[in-house]
Amino acid sequence: MSESEPSIFTRIVAREIPADIVFENDDIIAFRDINPQAAVHLLIVPKTEAYANVVELAAGDPALLAQMVDAAAQLATEHASGEFRLIFNTGPSAGQTVFHVHAHLLSGSIGEGTLG
Ligand code: 5GP
Repeated sequence: MSESEPSIFTRIVAREIPADIVFENDDIIAFRDINPQAAVHLLIVPKTEAYANVVELAAGDPALLAQMVDAAAQLATEHASGEFRLIFNTGPSAGQTVFHVHAHLLSGSIGEGTLG
């Protein structure tokens, strides 16, 4: 992907690609992962694609990162027991394939996969 192309998640925000959206506000969108690794596997994504990963996001907009964590807790309560795993793959060798920061929210019955 060239830097000028929108990320796949930006295209979901723009409704250019369909997704099962479960939450949205001005700053964040959340939708079901297309390849779920748990009974509940949601992606929580800032609408801005300015940050490629969680390290950049934490440095550049910690309040937005905190909003993502807050959304995760709320979604885990709505969709599962309220207990959850939150994963930020950071870098290709850690399994990151989309370089628009996103959190994997896993809850319920969690599979053995490594998300990478
Ligand atoms: P990463 O590997 O970067 O941590 O996570 C990217 C995630 O995005 C993967 O779990 C993958 O299944 C998911 N994904 C990729 N393309 C799409 C898509 O078009 N729709 C949805 N809902 N999920 C996607």
